[in-house]
Amino acid sequence: MPVQALYALQNGFIGFQRAGLFYGEFSAEKVQIPIACWLVRTGDATILFDTGLSPRAIPGLMRNDPMARFTEDDLLVHRLDRVGLEPDDVDLVVLSHLHYDHAGGAQLFPKSELVVQKDEYAYAHYPASFFESFYYRKNFDLPGYRWRLLDGDTELAPGVSALRSDGHTPGHQSLFVELPESGPVILAGDSCYWLEHVETERPPGVVWNPTLALHSIKRLKTLARLTGARIFPGHDPVFWETVTQAPDAYR
Ligand SMILES: [Zn+2]
Repeated sequence: MPVQALYALQNGFIGFQRAGLFYGEFSAEKVQIPIACWLVRTGDATILFDTGLSPRAIPGLMRNDPMARFTEDDLLVHRLDRVGLEPDDVDLVVLSHLHYDHAGGAQLFPKSELVVQKDEYAYAHYPASFFESFYYRKNFDLPGYRWRLLDGDTELAPGVSALRSDGHTPGHQSLFVELPESGPVILAGDSCYWLEHVETERPPGVVWNPTLALHSIKRLKTLARLTGARIFPGHDPVFWETVTQAPDAYR
């Protein structure tokens, strides 16, 4: 059964240094960036792409980050509730990668299948020292949860495929979603933080391998050109203002 709808679920905002956003930039200036989760409904599956921040992390963020903005509505459970769902209704939770602002809500889904690239899962448990502050073991060390570890591009449901897009991290993946009316969309995750990363082919500032990150940007652009897809970046505050927010949907 084909894709029916794509919902944008806002999970608040955090402050982030421009140096962390754009590779090679040394500005300490901070900007406010959105934390995004996406929900795909197909005829026979409900698929969540990314889970945002851990609810446990919110009080600390609000204390320490003057740009953090997080309301009750921003909690992932409340966003799901607005579209008539509970966590247990989600069949697949696809994690672009296991950084704290993407895997933080994974613990809400003990009944779902958690889908991540095998290389990401392995690396997250033993990250290099420069990446330790981005991987919180509590977010993904979830005994008894159902993990499905992928090795490369994988069709997850008719019209929904995981696309390997390494570089930001060793096992980053994006999600290709074929919408029936408005055409295909690529949810880029952190392979493209902002549209500017797509347009000017700039790797993210937080990066495991900038060369691979650049290859992934080019790969997603090529796929977008070949299929007529639009690329939705992961943390672009200007793009985010133009996004149709749940409970409204892309169809
Ligand atoms: Zn990340």
